This record gives sequence, structure tokens and C-alpha cells, in this order.
Amino acid sequence: MTTTAAAPSPEVAAFLKNPIQHLVGGENVSSASGEAFATFNPSNGNTLAQIALGSGEDVDRAVSAARKALDGPWSRLSPSARSKIIWRVGDLMESRLEEFALLDALDSGKPLAYAQLVDVPLAVDWFRYMAGWPTKLEGTTIPVSAVATPGDYFAYTVREPVGVVGAVIAWNFPILLAAWKLAPALAAGNTVILKPAEQTPLSAALLGEVLREAGVPDGVVNIVHGDGEQVGAALAAHPGVDKISFTGSTEVGRHIVGAARGNLKKVTLELGGKSPNVVFADADIDAAIAGAANAIFFNQGEACEAGSRLFVESKVYDRVVTGIAEIAANLKVGDSLAPDTQIGPLVSQKQLDTVLGYLDSGRAEGATAVAGGGRKGDVGYFVEPTVLIDTKPTMRVVKEEIFGPVVTVAPFDDTDELLRTANDTEYGLAAAVWTSNLAKAHNVAARFKAGTVWINSYHILDPALPFGGYKQSGWGREHGSSAFDAYTETKTVILNKG
Ligand code: NAP
Ligand code: MG
Repeated sequence: MTTTAAAPSPEVAAFLKNPIQHLVGGENVSSASGEAFATFNPSNGNTLAQIALGSGEDVDRAVSAARKALDGPWSRLSPSARSKIIWRVGDLMESRLEEFALLDALDSGKPLAYAQLVDVPLAVDWFRYMAGWPTKLEGTTIPVSAVATPGDYFAYTVREPVGVVGAVIAWNFPILLAAWKLAPALAAGNTVILKPAEQTPLSAALLGEVLREAGVPDGVVNIVHGDGEQVGAALAAHPGVDKISFTGSTEVGRHIVGAARGNLKKVTLELGGKSPNVVFADADIDAAIAGAANAIFFNQGEACEAGSRLFVESKVYDRVVTGIAEIAANLKVGDSLAPDTQIGPLVSQKQLDTVLGYLDSGRAEGATAVAGGGRKGDVGYFVEPTVLIDTKPTMRVVKEEIFGPVVTVAPFDDTDELLRTANDTEYGLAAAVWTSNLAKAHNVAARFKAGTVWINSYHILDPALPFGGYKQSGWGREHGSSAFDAYTETKTVILNKG
């Protein structure tokens, strides 16, 4: 295992020295309770920083600040002025790319190189893409028929912000998920209370600095740190919150829906997945092997859309299993800051225990690991990239989201049966197919019950492309024009001009 890691930069070392506070109404504030919690570096378990621990009282303050900002100058800014501010957030984030990348790598365990190349540049792109939208949120004029004198009526729609948005996010892509929530919410003119995951609060705190520098008015974005069962639950239940946008597990998604019932706030959910990745014998097999490895091992498998169930046509099954096992065995597992690391640690001891529990259950139920199969080292939360064969559809490793670097591989012969098995899951976030037959690719894409289907590719996400889940993978779609279905209300205005 690689252990040599770069030291954090002086800027980041200085940032981590002071306790991190909430951002409420444009001010950095400590918790009403005065309490704090620690965030850890999963590469070695060391404490990185102290963070204000929020409670319902901090949520109340943030909701008041967000409401005041919604009714204040923010609502009177022109769409193009809003655009400019959001664009500036992207620019400032880009100018501090190294700091953002280092904070996410330290906090979540993701390889620094990937944070530099993927997470932060994409977060910047999200702000830039969404910065274009405020001037384009148009209504329509609609002819009216159901009246005696239709010519007397003029009807049109306008799109207005939903209001105060609570955004609760997971730890696997900290700054990117924050961008996924904030950029469209702000573009539509909402105000926001963001609750970062307790495991990865650091980059959101730096984003707070950037938002203020970019000219986001006080109270338009508030950040309350802390535990989901306190801060997240208080946001979901709060009568002053108009909408919750949630990214996390299906189980917590259900709690959010329950908590939101009081004021029937709008809810969108981006939840878990157990995505099928299908390789036909007529595919470019080398590309499919590399793609299947990337589909599961990117970000240590801690990706909601990870290709965690691989299905391979029998004729090429042995070749694909050998190929992906070879890649798994050769991936560099190590400290998130080491320059050659490809697989960092899992985010926490809890996540390590969960994934090791799945590996034990797979073994007990008869699966065979042809690569990996256990923990790596005894410092930090590292798991070997693992390829499991001899699986059955009833096994927990096949049915449940593991959220670690573990793929199950099964052979198939018949496409109808394959699709039945691939779709036999409570999830429906993503799916992929590898084939050189165009008609087959589109036919299979049409039959997957999933919100995103990749053909001869994987993990392609773009601010312009709708993303979200069928079935228990979620409610609604993020990104692209679809995002504004969730972040605006449509008002219909009817004038009798007769
Ligand atoms: P999680 O346990 O559901 O937590 C997600 C967020 O919800 C965290 O901020 C958490 O706070 C908070 N939370 C926990 N309990 C809550 C409650 N009762 N009420 C309100 N909020 C609560 O998920 P995770 O383990 O962080 O993330 C992994 C999951 O996220 C996976 O299932 C993955 O597939 C999914 N995910 C989905 C997408 C997508 O776009 N579809 C993207 C990324 C991840 P804490 O700080 O206390 O944890
Ligand atoms: Mg941490």
C-alpha cells in the first residue's frame, strides 16, 4: 500500500486550524448549544478539524435568515444579476481549486488527483451551466377554450422560486453535491439552508467563504453542520421550509418523506442504486473490461450510480472476469493524498464495517472472490477492490447497495432473462450496456428500468443531462432544464380583457 502522502498546503493547514462554524445570515456563528464535533481523515483516522454541531435551534435561525433573504433584495435582483453572481461562484471556486480538492480528499478519502480532475472542475461547471438559466426561465402564453367567449381571455404562466430550500447531502462527492443543490436553487431565485454530511463538512465551509466573496447576499445561502438525525430531520420537518432536496440513502429518503408531511413541503430525492452493467459478446471487450472496472471502482465504489452488478454474456464471461480481476488486483490502494493512489480509503470506520460485513455475508452465502475480498492494512479504512463470482440473485451482495469497491459478476445467455434479472431490483438509478450492435444497444436501453442508461460508457454526468431514479432510487430529476421543475413553482395568470 502506498503511504507517502503530500502535506496539506499552508492555506488548507490554516483553514483547518480554526473551528469551523455555521454560516447563518452571512455570519459565521457557533452552535446555539456551543457544542462541536470532529471530522476525521479516513486515510489514518486522525482528527482534521472541529466543526460546530448544529441542532434544531440553529436550523430555526437559518430558516429565519433564509426567509428574510427571500423577501429581501435577492428577490428584486434582475435575472442577469443573479447569473453574474452564480458565474462568479464558479470562477472563484476554480481559482481555489487546489484548496477545494485537498479538503475533499482529506475529508472523504477520495484520491486527490480525482478531486482535482473530476469533483472540483465539475462543481465549477455546474455553477457555470446553471448561471445561464436565470435569464431563460420563461413562462408560456396559453389559449383558453373552456369559456363562452374565449377571445376575451389571455392566459400566461410565470415561473417563480419555490422559496426556502433545505438541501441535505451525502459524503461521497462533497463539493459536487453541494454544487448540484446550490447552483439550480440559486438560479431559480430560491434561498437555501445546506446541511453537509457530518463526515465531510470541510469543502462546504470553504464554499461559504466563496459564496460571500462572489456577492451572494447574506442569508441567501446558509450552512448548518451536524448530525442528520438532528439538523437534517429538523430541516425536513420545519414548517418554514418550502422544499427539501435530498441526496442520500433510500432508507433516510423515507424518513425525509415522513418528516415533510407536516407542511407538505415539496420533496425531491436522489437515492441509492444497484446498477446493472451488461456486456454482450459482440462488444469491444477490452473497452468493456476497462469500463466495467471504472464503473465500480471509481471513487472506491462510493458512487450512487456505480455499476455494482456486472452481467456478461457466457461466451466472453471468463475473459471479462479475468480482465476485471486483473485490473482490481493492480489498482493502487493508498492514502488519498499520495500521487499514485487510485483507490482511497472508505469514508469512515462505519462504512468499512458495512462493506466488510457484506464481504463476510457473500462468503457465507457461497460467493467466491477472484480479486480482493477483505480489508487492506490495519490503519485507515481501506478495502481491496473486490470481484465476486458464483453469486445467486438472492444473495445480499447482489440485492443490496454495498457502497464500496465490490462488484458481483454473473453470466447470461438469453437477453429477455438477462433484462428480467437486471431489472429485478428495488433501485433504478442507472444501467449500462456494452455492444457494437446499435439496434441491440437501443433496444436494451429502452427496456432498462433506470433513470440513466450508458451505452459503451459509464459515469458520464453533465450539468445539462437530467439525472435521477426510477423506483426507489428517487423522486424527480436534477440537472438540465429538468432541475427547474423541482426548484420553481408555475403560476398561471388569467386575464379577462373583454
Ligand atoms: P445517508 O445516511 O442517507 O445520509 C445522507 C444525508 O442525510 C447526510 O447528510 C445525513 O446526515 C442526513 N440524514 C441522516 N439521517 C437523517 C434524517 N433522519 N433526516 C434528515 N437527514 C438525515 O446517506 P450516506 O451514507 O451519507 O450516502 C450514501 C447514500 O447516498 C447511498 O445510498 C448513495 O447511493 C446515495 N447517493 C445518491 C446520489 C444520487 O444522486 N442519487 C448521490 C450520492 C449518494 P449525517 O451527517 O448524520 O450522515
Ligand atoms: Mg472526514
